[in-house]
Amino acid sequence: FRATFIIHTKVMQPLKFNKVYHQLMQQLFPWQQHYARQLATACSSSSSNSSTFRFADLETELTKEPQTRPSSVDSLVFGTQFSDHMLVARHTGPTGWSRPRIEPIRCLPLHPATKALHYALECFEGLKAYWGVDGRVRLFRPLENMKRLRASAERATLASFDPGELLDCLRQLVRTDLAWVPRSQEGALYIRPAMIASEPRIAIGPAEETTLFIITGPVGPYYPTGFKPVTLLADPEFARAWPGGAGRSKMGSNYGPTCRIQLLAAEQGCQQVLWLFGPEHRITEVGTMNVFLFWRCPSSGRPQLVTPALTEDLILPGITRSSVLELARQWGDWEVIERNVTMPEVADAIQSGRLLEMFGCGTACVVNPVGAIRYQGQLLQVPTMSEGAPVTMRFFKALTDIQYGRIPQHPWADIVA
Ligand code: PLP
Repeated sequence: FRATFIIHTKVMQPLKFNKVYHQLMQQLFPWQQHYARQLATACSSSSSNSSTFRFADLETELTKEPQTRPSSVDSLVFGTQFSDHMLVARHTGPTGWSRPRIEPIRCLPLHPATKALHYALECFEGLKAYWGVDGRVRLFRPLENMKRLRASAERATLASFDPGELLDCLRQLVRTDLAWVPRSQEGALYIRPAMIASEPRIAIGPAEETTLFIITGPVGPYYPTGFKPVTLLADPEFARAWPGGAGRSKMGSNYGPTCRIQLLAAEQGCQQVLWLFGPEHRITEVGTMNVFLFWRCPSSGRPQLVTPALTEDLILPGITRSSVLELARQWGDWEVIERNVTMPEVADAIQSGRLLEMFGCGTACVVNPVGAIRYQGQLLQVPTMSEGAPVTMRFFKALTDIQYGRIPQHPWADIVA
């Protein structure tokens, strides 16, 4: 009895979600239909290691009905056109991850009780593939997106995976739909990985089944008619995130509630919301971008590049944000500071003429200059564009030079084709 107990707890339990476990159990208890069923599923669909899917197990089913591709990027409306294929993998408790599959884009079969639809157990990513001046196709620091997706998935209790394996699958998806990457240094192929709790269960609780998918689609230039500075609504009545919340994760539940505030901003002539937090009105993010200030230090008068620090789960750790910080530190032309900044400090810098430029940054736009802020009944004019925004534009050029291969080799560029 002791020997059986030890074998069961020390050997069998760790194998519980593994094919071998079901194989052994079937040998030991052949009358148990349960193990035979689990074994059949494990053998037909499971990746060799259930803690992650593997690129080596990737299956591909090509479409028999390719869609017509848009002839130019200029008329594209963001997020409305999708390429021919998608990547899908599913994780369930007993069998672990299925093999990842590239297959024709199609609707997901979702029961109306799907948990993600009721409790927003969901997370996503956003990155792009760029057609370079040399005809090669590049991703920009994509492993960072894969790691951030895994971190968001953990926050949402969704299944974990190896970011390197997902990146290999993603590269293959981009190669499969290479014809969909706009051949222009204005457009790009937008890539949207997402993960949802897909079990049909109306009960709040951790995800029991995860469906991971990646869809892609061509997008046009963010600034078709040149840079346009945005006006921001800074209203302390609204918050995007709070200490101990999920603001640092890219979960859908952080975005849905912002749409109403975006509408209120539009009613006041503002294109974006400057998200404030706390009684001291700390600035956190601009819309779905990280925010930077370029100003003269009040005490030393020296130029400083400042961005809010990533503390208390308030801010999404943007990949563009960290790239801007790394570039600025490499250039060494100004002090580069991550710290809390309040709206009264920003207003004071504007009124005393110390604020030189302000911009949001993110994958969608790279950088977005700020022209004005509506705050406590005043419209504060930000002089970002008055001298042509040299600092903002320097970042725009440096980042797009890497993305579109004007710098042929760069450690942040991941050449996929
Ligand atoms: N902040 C939020 C809330 C975002 O949704 C995004 C975009 O993903 C960013 C910042 C910018 O992040 P990244 O530079 O990784 O695109």
